[in-house]
Amino acid sequence: MNFLKNFNPVLTISSPGRINIIGEHTDYNLGYVLPTAIEKKIVLQFQKNETEKTCRVYSKDFDKGFEFDLSKISISENAWENYVLGVLNEISKRTDKVRGFDCVLESNLPLGSGLSSSAALECGIAYGLNELFALSLSKLDIVTLSQIAEHTYVGTQCGIMDQYASVMSEAGHVILLDCRSLEHQLIPMELHPYKIIMLNTGVSHNLATSEYNVRKLECEEGIAQIQQKYPSVKSLRDVTEEMLETCRKELKTTVYRRCHFISKENQRVLDVAKALRNSNLERVGELLYEAHEGISKWYEVSCKESDFLVEHTKKNLLVLGARQTGGGFGGCTLNIVHVDAVASFVESASVAYKNEFGIELTYFEANPSRGTATL
Ligand code: ADP
Ligand code: MG
Repeated sequence: MNFLKNFNPVLTISSPGRINIIGEHTDYNLGYVLPTAIEKKIVLQFQKNETEKTCRVYSKDFDKGFEFDLSKISISENAWENYVLGVLNEISKRTDKVRGFDCVLESNLPLGSGLSSSAALECGIAYGLNELFALSLSKLDIVTLSQIAEHTYVGTQCGIMDQYASVMSEAGHVILLDCRSLEHQLIPMELHPYKIIMLNTGVSHNLATSEYNVRKLECEEGIAQIQQKYPSVKSLRDVTEEMLETCRKELKTTVYRRCHFISKENQRVLDVAKALRNSNLERVGELLYEAHEGISKWYEVSCKESDFLVEHTKKNLLVLGARQTGGGFGGCTLNIVHVDAVASFVESASVAYKNEFGIELTYFEANPSRGTATL
């Protein structure tokens, strides 16, 4: 793109990916989640280009850029552009202060691996424009408008967790977020002598978006049924296991199983938060294994690759727990591994995984990091 020749950025934003310790699919059911930003991130550089309406965005990772007119924003045929355009569309509903700008971005976040490169991109654009044009958007505005952008322009009916974690995280902590009140508590993440090791399955099955939306509908169907017996229930977050059992006959088996998972998973988030506060890492590990069982058998958003990797850890006494993390159908597994066992664990998982699926396993250590910031 031509503008790259005269690119003199005045602003650099770091926009991280995130991991979620526990609480999968609970966010859109207005329950609890326990995420944190990680060191892997998208770095976005910005300059004003002194035009009224011409904007140019270039992704170094894709070696692709595009230009658009602020007064003619619409959904693009190129999927990745919609993460940017959706954000601009939402910002334009809130302020008319944006003018022509150029942005170059570069990422070390693997795409579609459950680390939420999508939220990192959305929030990085929103955060950058907020700084560049002094839009006076709050951090929470940036979070919510980015979420809506993903609904309207990308078509994923995501909850609030990814954007919230990307923007609001603090180094060394996880966020216990109540997705209904949008209030959070920071919990120190002290794992020593353990580490969080992420194994990337290297697969991201196409089901991720379509099945995600199906799960959301199944939960809504469950709620509608349960409300007939319990009118005060607003979301699955309000449904205890006992309540669910009293509605079991009225629910389709699949819907019952989805609701059962959400109810259990929500409680697990609170239990993990408590265990972390009490430095009871063994309990954290147990709950991660339980969560994976739920993800795989009850919510059915795992895949054979993730199941294999989680199962593989169970033979290793120096691994406290493991589960698939992210929306599902691949991406990464999260493992709590003793420092002395990291190298041997990664080696044995890699060999076994290669034998089984012919795929090279990649891994990294995840450390709770601060959210979106100006560099
Ligand atoms: P995840 O959020 O788990 O990484 P998604 O499928 O939700 O997976 O989002 C990934 C998509 O986000 C990519 O396919 C691409 O469209 C967009 N994206 C993320 N990072 C970049 C980047 N560096 N350059 C261009 N597009 C990106
Ligand atoms: Mg995403």
